[in-house]
Amino acid sequence: MQLVNIEGRATLAAEGFAYDLATLSGGTLGPTSSDALAAWDEVVELARVGTFDDGVPLTDLSLGPPIDRPGTIYAVGLNYASHVAGAGLAPRRAPSVFVKFAGSLSGPCSDIVVPAGEAMVDWEAEVGVVVGRAGRHIAAADALDHVAGYLAANDVSERHLQVESGPSLGKSFDTFCPTGPALVTLDELEDPLDVEIRCWVNDELMQDGHTRDMITDVPHILELLSSVTTLQPGDIVLTGTPAGTGYEREPKRFLAPGDVVVTEVTGLGRLVNRCVADPG
Ligand code: ZN
Repeated sequence: MQLVNIEGRATLAAEGFAYDLATLSGGTLGPTSSDALAAWDEVVELARVGTFDDGVPLTDLSLGPPIDRPGTIYAVGLNYASHVAGAGLAPRRAPSVFVKFAGSLSGPCSDIVVPAGEAMVDWEAEVGVVVGRAGRHIAAADALDHVAGYLAANDVSERHLQVESGPSLGKSFDTFCPTGPALVTLDELEDPLDVEIRCWVNDELMQDGHTRDMITDVPHILELLSSVTTLQPGDIVLTGTPAGTGYEREPKRFLAPGDVVVTEVTGLGRLVNRCVADPG
């Protein structure tokens, strides 16, 4: 199943057509993705047995972030050995975890607003995990039962503030978390733990990684997070970025208004985000 957001309404996407979820449910489900996540088992069942007619062609529609109001956006830093080495850092014993403010969330074709001044805005193509069932003290072996699906994401980061203040502020500017185009359930992926992640800036391939190179895999990330806090439906967990960010390059390279960032994950689709100046 693929869940997209069209004008704030949770929508099933199938074979190029869009079906409004609340309408499909005959009104038992609310209109938003938060409503869908809160009744996830019902949504899964509806996708399985629902009658699909009167679809609207997806190409005619503009998509918002698949999860419109996330609970918490967790993010794991330095989770690919290649990226750790590229950043000149020693591997950690436990994953580095931080939070991106929910206001940073944006969609698959949203603009990335570059802050004024000497901003060092960087790209980080990632797999995002969306929690579908609440849980605390989740064992890694059971973790995927708590996952609604995956989405492509970019953990856009302003490196000055990240270095000076720690990760959360530098990674939480409004528009710094493009996601989408769809929430894709795990049954649609050949192997949900085995996908390629790529990022281009202005058609130049910058990142070309694979989730098999993660230091801490998705089940163990969820086990760790849920040992501390209750994971809730609609929480998003970004799982780290492979090598090839602008900060690692020689010379360093950062985003400027006019640049176009394309993020692609196998089976999840692509984000196309244009950088614009902050209008102030
Ligand atoms: Zn990241």
